[in-house]
Amino acid sequence: MKPLEGLTILDLSRVLACPFASMILAELGARVIKVEQPRGGDETRSFEPQLARDSAYYFVCNRSKESITVNLRSHEGRLLVRGLAQKADVLVEGKKILAVGPNLHAGGADVIDARGRIVMPGFIDTHHHQFETALRSFLANGLLINDGSGSPSANPTYFEYILLTFAPVYRPEDVYISELFGGLSQLDDGVTTVHDVSQIHHSPEHSDAAIKALFDTGRRAAFGFFESAGANILGTNPGNKYPTDAPRIKSQWFSSSDQLVHMIMGGEVYLGDATTDQSWTIGRQLGLQIAAHILSPFGIRPIFDKLAAGTGGNGRIGIGPDNLFIHMTGMADAAWQKVKDVGAQVSIAFPIEMNMRHGIPPILKLQSLGMEPSLSTDVEVTMTADFFTQMRVCMNMQRMVVNQMVLEQGDFYPPSQWPTPTADKPQLLNVRDVLRFATLNGAKHLRLDGKTGSLTPGKEADIIILDATAINVAPLNNVPGAVVSLMDRTNVETVIVAGRVRKWKGKLLDVDLNHLRRQLESSRDFIFAKAGVLQNLYG
Ligand SMILES: [Zn+2]
Repeated sequence: MKPLEGLTILDLSRVLACPFASMILAELGARVIKVEQPRGGDETRSFEPQLARDSAYYFVCNRSKESITVNLRSHEGRLLVRGLAQKADVLVEGKKILAVGPNLHAGGADVIDARGRIVMPGFIDTHHHQFETALRSFLANGLLINDGSGSPSANPTYFEYILLTFAPVYRPEDVYISELFGGLSQLDDGVTTVHDVSQIHHSPEHSDAAIKALFDTGRRAAFGFFESAGANILGTNPGNKYPTDAPRIKSQWFSSSDQLVHMIMGGEVYLGDATTDQSWTIGRQLGLQIAAHILSPFGIRPIFDKLAAGTGGNGRIGIGPDNLFIHMTGMADAAWQKVKDVGAQVSIAFPIEMNMRHGIPPILKLQSLGMEPSLSTDVEVTMTADFFTQMRVCMNMQRMVVNQMVLEQGDFYPPSQWPTPTADKPQLLNVRDVLRFATLNGAKHLRLDGKTGSLTPGKEADIIILDATAINVAPLNNVPGAVVSLMDRTNVETVIVAGRVRKWKGKLLDVDLNHLRRQLESSRDFIFAKAGVLQNLYG
């Protein structure tokens, strides 16, 4: 095999130096497409000596190439060349991206033939409770909290069952297998980075099990050190060391910044002012980002008002650029303005917020402030952690609301049944917007944009390869459109994290999924039995 086989080079050069250089690349195995102008082509075609009206000079410099004639003065010609240039190579060395573009010189590199594929940065999930993987789909109809309605959605519910019944009985080994299995599942889906919001820290052993699982998954992660679910409310889990174990955890596991997993401090505000004061103070002393769920119930709005005013916790805690706020449903305008002013980040879980009564995902509020969200899957007890679902639901929800606002400018009678949007209407989200939310925004919100979030030379190689030749996608007419509108996990062919291939041609590497699934099932059986909840497949 020749060293450059598999590379395609678009050659727009003429006369001598560049055609000679690209000829060498062609001789080394690259496919070189030479673009020539109409009416004579490359000037050297007329150079002497001629052999049967062909220039020997031209053929020496352009041998082994393909040639096409394109009129670059025409719109169609420019479109054609732009289309050819959109096919590019990504050169990776070790864990870093060295270059992106057509015509890359790969030397002796291994080549992944991605023709017919879409190569893009991996997805980034900024809020996911992976410890709940053993409880997947248990709460498919459930609300956050029992609302007293007696409806199937009011019982079972998230707060009473997941947080106060199941979570307190978890052992460290339950934490480990749920974290690992949930993480691998998202890796298979092309989600190369997660912020794991683990509220399962009943003891230091539980914390260490969660962290070990994040490392063992082999993807990029922020370990969110949150509370011990149930401890504050039920008085269970007396061995828990939240939040005072944070310095031990940071020095034991996160002394290096050159590793796949880093730490975020959980700073929930509904655990009482004293705990908020303590967790935010410790987090800031350690230089960590501080994340918290901010949502309509649990009396959070007045608490958040105080934090926005700088008088939270025991009176002196305020929000800052180190905050990552999750949901942000139901908050006051002044508090929102403060979030914007201090440069805090907002993660939205569109499907979950719509299903579990958090409130309408605040995308229009963010747009009105000139802010953008990252996306979060939240809980698989109620909804998939698949990222194609995230992007589609985000776009659908926003467009449903804005489209209706525009329609209601008219009265549904001709001639005002299809109004032109007035200037005050929010812009409709498009597929590029939600792709950015799902990748680069996630990286920024986890302070990882120096390492991941885009295919940029110098960043680490978190890359996914999506099959655009598949039956649910072909023919390819719009690259971002195909990813957001058509694709699902079956199209995720290859997943690379920091230069290491974790999924190859549709199969996760280095895992025995049957073995892990049996472990997860036996953990699930233990959790249900210990919690005193009957397993009911059709409940
Ligand atoms: Zn959450």
